Amino acid sequence: MIARNDCVERDRADPLAPLRSLFALERVDRQGTIYLDGNSLGVLPRAAADRVRQVVEDEWGLGLIRSWNTAGWMTLSQRIGDKIATLVGAGPGEVAVADSTSANLYKVLSAAIAMTAGARKQVVSERTNFPTDLYIADTLAREHGFELALVDADGLDAHLDDRLAILMLTHVNYRTGRMHDMARVTSAAHDAGALVIWDLAHSAGAMPVHLGDADFAVGCGYKYLNGGPGAPAFVWAHPRHTARMDREGWRQPLSGWLGHAAPFEFTPDYRPAPGIARFICGTPPVLSMAALECGIDTVLAAADRGGLDAIRRKSIALTELFVELVESRCAGYSLELASPRAAADRGSQVSFAHATGGYPIMQALIARGVIGDFRAPDILRFGFTPIYTRFADVWDAVDRLSHVLASGEWREPRFSVRSAVT
Ligand SMILES: *Cc1c(COP(=O)(O)O)cnc(C)c1O
Repeated sequence: MIARNDCVERDRADPLAPLRSLFALERVDRQGTIYLDGNSLGVLPRAAADRVRQVVEDEWGLGLIRSWNTAGWMTLSQRIGDKIATLVGAGPGEVAVADSTSANLYKVLSAAIAMTAGARKQVVSERTNFPTDLYIADTLAREHGFELALVDADGLDAHLDDRLAILMLTHVNYRTGRMHDMARVTSAAHDAGALVIWDLAHSAGAMPVHLGDADFAVGCGYKYLNGGPGAPAFVWAHPRHTARMDREGWRQPLSGWLGHAAPFEFTPDYRPAPGIARFICGTPPVLSMAALECGIDTVLAAADRGGLDAIRRKSIALTELFVELVESRCAGYSLELASPRAAADRGSQVSFAHATGGYPIMQALIARGVIGDFRAPDILRFGFTPIYTRFADVWDAVDRLSHVLASGEWREPRFSVRSAVT
């Protein structure tokens, strides 16, 4: 049996523990809230409020339009993109920050479709991929006469054949936390003659990512990058593709003025900017970019404490502790581990399925101050962000979960009332 004190000791010995002070968690802590949902919305970085206030009051309020030049607003996408690049195994100048993950996926999938000439007309993804990815792919597939084939993760290899044009996957599954072996899948898809697009929504900032030889990637700013609600997303294309786009003058479908080679020449015809910058569409959301940069800086602050490798080590330790505690302390209440049991096969989240009570159990748990989330139809989902989640938090969360289950309080009707966001 693991005692709470053992967890407190592990926090004392944790090299990443000091990073928790980079987050504005005092009021959350005072409220007694344990936050296990950083995989959906990362915690507020302490620096963000002051930085956003500075951008509002000084850069906007005083600098006014001059700030596009004097405060570097025009180069925010590149500057923040370069920081993200260090987290996903990309080089400087290879990542652009813009728009939403959904919009960026539309752009890169359009690029991939344009690059696949010939008989191949199939886009393959996972049936349990995040819906926005599937909706975007469905629309583009219809528009271009492609077929979108949805398969189970286990059956993926059977679809890597000469019909496959594009394999579009999310590295870590949002429901189960199951993680693909990026290098292996990328190389298998290439061997089959296909292009690969990775969605890094649940991996960027949570573990080392090596895009390596992959073709395109997109990712989310508000999850493990702590960029704040609706933070801008990012987009990457392998330099071999951007070089070819440069040579062939390829334009992405959202060919807006800030993805133009010379936006301030205001020419009537579109000429794409070189490299990844062509994936920018319109004016950057400067206030959101400022908050996003503060979020990314919290992850980069781990650099001299072992960086993403240390983050991954602690992530595995936190998720293993959680699984072990739930299975020992909540046995007999029909919770089934829905994430891979082997830590190497999952990201930084753990999901349990409950056939009938998934939603009300999570609501009752939230009422006891443990915030996870529910994913229909039956998944209780818990995210672990190693730079602010403590081992003692894991112990306390499971302690409260065991009370929710043992008391049966989750059966109270008020916990079955559905909100818009689950
Ligand atoms: C969170 C998430 C998104 C979010 O897309 P938005 O355009 O920011 O709403 C997309 N894909 C995956 C896999 C996600 O987990």
